Amino acid sequence: MTRDLICVSCPLGCPITVELSENGEVIKVTGNTCKRGEKYAISECTNPVRVLTSTMKVNGGSLPVIPVKTSAPIPKDKMFDCMKAINNEVVDAPVKIGDVLICNVCDTGADIIATNEL
Ligand code: SF4
Repeated sequence: MTRDLICVSCPLGCPITVELSENGEVIKVTGNTCKRGEKYAISECTNPVRVLTSTMKVNGGSLPVIPVKTSAPIPKDKMFDCMKAINNEVVDAPVKIGDVLICNVCDTGADIIATNEL
């Protein structure tokens, strides 16, 4: 079986085709024009990850929420749990850019960090 992807590792957006075995192992990657594309395609087919961006509630700030993101890409299948963890948290102002608001969110190894000040 094959899977068609668009590489998102740089703005060129190369179309990539990944040939997979019946048990999902990557056999061949074509269409990429550099090694980053191959790495992206293999990761996307075996362990897809994303940076999660969201907002978190704030007590005592000039706005009710602050924008946040994960400090590193997390597995796609952990996105929902991480969103729940963010939604259950309320942080006290003041908050600075880069403050760690949740450490090792859902055991992903990534932190939830503030991307603005409040
Ligand atoms: S394969 Fe390489 S050149 Fe093509 S989009 Fe991905 S990173 Fe960019």
